Amino acid sequence: MRCDVLTLFPQLLEAFRRTGVLGRAVESGLVEIAVHDLRDWAGNRWGQVDDEPYGGGAGMVIMAPPVLRAVRAIEAMDPRPARTIVLTPRGRVFDQALAAELAQAPRMVLLCGRYEGFDERVTAILEPEEVSIGDFILGGGEVAAMAVIEAVARLVPGVVGDPASVEEDSFFAGLLDHPSYTRPPEVEGHAVPKVLRSGHHERIRRWRLEEAVRATVARRPDLLERHWNEYTDEVRAIVRRFAPELAARLGRDGR
Ligand code: SAM
Repeated sequence: MRCDVLTLFPQLLEAFRRTGVLGRAVESGLVEIAVHDLRDWAGNRWGQVDDEPYGGGAGMVIMAPPVLRAVRAIEAMDPRPARTIVLTPRGRVFDQALAAELAQAPRMVLLCGRYEGFDERVTAILEPEEVSIGDFILGGGEVAAMAVIEAVARLVPGVVGDPASVEEDSFFAGLLDHPSYTRPPEVEGHAVPKVLRSGHHERIRRWRLEEAVRATVARRPDLLERHWNEYTDEVRAIVRRFAPELAARLGRDGR
């Protein structure tokens, strides 16, 4: 997969694309991350890409022409079709389902705003997808782009060495993850649950599944509503034990 990032602060992506699991994926060629400085398409000697908003008011707006030039040039750098995405608080809220969808694409082009964001004509002309990473305001789209790239890259086959580790993550199966423990066996009076030291694989699997359901019931019951249809009979039976009323309602609604 190839990710192109258009930004006013390319240096913010430098350590990110060299570090950890993603750094190894980039080194091995599984993921390519190309970072582009919007000022390269400014079209003026000063590299100016923003201007005051029509109608007045606080902050600056990123001008449309440099963005249009940049995106067209970047899209032409590779013949594969790209999902072109503007990071913006008004976009579709990013989640694991969207990450999985994007991981199927050969390319993403991510546009990072700053200041008051982009001139509206960027959206009108390029008709990009709009993605938000949540209901809060960042200073720029770079952190949002990194969140999207990291979540998507983890789902590209081969990036995470053991695919089971991705499949057991929170949200992958519509459940939160189970708790994890490592040495030492006891910390300030808190012992590791006995079953995890039993060596009994089936009991461990079952305990982890129950704990995942328990955590989801307690912390994110909205996930149960959204994913009820996708759960196995085993998961539904555990939900019935922990949250009988909710399970009855979800079963009745035929979701
Ligand atoms: N005035 C804009 C608004 O209220 O929608 C906020 C602009 S914000 C200070 C600057 C840039 O940060 C945005 O153009 C966008 O690229 C990025 N940004 C801020 N919050 C974001 C979020 N929750 N998700 C994705 N991008 C975000």
